Amino acid sequence: DVVETTEFITANELADLLGVGVNDIISVCMSIGLMITINQRLDAGTIELVAEEYGKEVKFIEAEEMDEDLTIPEDDEEDLKPRAPIITVMGHVDHGKTSLLDYIREEKVAAGEAGGITQHVGAYQVVHNDNEITFLDTPGHEAFTAMRSRGAQATDIVILVVAADDSVMPQTIEAINHAKAAGVPIVVAINKIDKEGVNPDKIKTQLSEHDVIVEEYGGKVQYAEVSAHTGQGIEDLLEKVLIEAELLELKANPDRRADGVVLEARLDKGKGIVSNILVQGGTLRVGDPFVAGPCFGRVRAMENDRGKRVKEAGPSTPVQLMGFDEMPQAGDKLIAAEDEKLAKEVANERMQIRREQAMRTTKHMTLDDISRRL
Ligand code: GDP
Ligand code: MG
Repeated sequence: DVVETTEFITANELADLLGVGVNDIISVCMSIGLMITINQRLDAGTIELVAEEYGKEVKFIEAEEMDEDLTIPEDDEEDLKPRAPIITVMGHVDHGKTSLLDYIREEKVAAGEAGGITQHVGAYQVVHNDNEITFLDTPGHEAFTAMRSRGAQATDIVILVVAADDSVMPQTIEAINHAKAAGVPIVVAINKIDKEGVNPDKIKTQLSEHDVIVEEYGGKVQYAEVSAHTGQGIEDLLEKVLIEAELLELKANPDRRADGVVLEARLDKGKGIVSNILVQGGTLRVGDPFVAGPCFGRVRAMENDRGKRVKEAGPSTPVQLMGFDEMPQAGDKLIAAEDEKLAKEVANERMQIRREQAMRTTKHMTLDDISRRL
């Protein structure tokens, strides 16, 4: 018998969960030498021990998953509409990730739009042959793993950059492993193809040894030779990305409460807490109350990647959002709520749980330290 719960539920809640009286819980705890009160929150070990007494196994889930009232019901197939793929660029240091992102941003965005200089919203969108593609602005593995460790998956496809004048390097392999662990397909971009005497075949062979096998070598991986300096092959790369995206049949329901992920957050002197959000499903609108991790907010204003004020943002759209009461963390999942009261309650509850967790891990700190940490 398996029961699901979060850590740090109270003795009372555990009693409900196991279908027994709270006094039974208290006496079981006493029998193992723990004096507890009805409203005391119990740690994972204690919950497991008590449940075992009643023949139940415990499965711990994230607090976020417990907020039944904010959880967005599964979308009906017929409500789903195609959405833009979300791309992360990864690869070894100096192989040209930033250059590639910059080239694509400048060429593809500036060309299409009047005054198209972009602002930093953590991601940007380009249009290639009438298809939108969203690029996450932070290359590298830390961002990717930080997100994943918080349960947020914000990438559909990884562009793996390998410099043609170098080889498959440790971070190339790391990137391959991250993409595989996340179940995200890779499109290979051999960069710096403009350099003289480079040998892309060598790299293709090395990649095969790590199970990244391009079509030409009998595999399924899309592949392009590019130069982030001259722009050679970039159109081809975007084409390949779109082919891969088509296979994934990426869809979302734009007609519901929004959910998404916090890409970054910072304190701006004039604007207050400013965060970069990637909307993943639904449509986020000015005025919407929301929760992100333990933080509450209400959308005061949003700007898109062109620095333009927008009133709403749909699936796969990155925006800069003003309206947080507290500073969220990258990777926090954002969920819009119907009413502000519920959103506040959920945020408070989560904050409470985090505080208690912090208390437990800061036993050796002074009170001063603790209050600073909170
Ligand atoms: P990152 O560490 O992967 O972000 O790599 P960068 O984008 O910072 O590039 C590292 C170096 O390689 C810089 O000096 C770039 O100017 C250079 N570089 C990047 N792309 C190309 C390219 O396509 N061709 C050439 N020749 N140099 C490149
Ligand atoms: Mg870089």
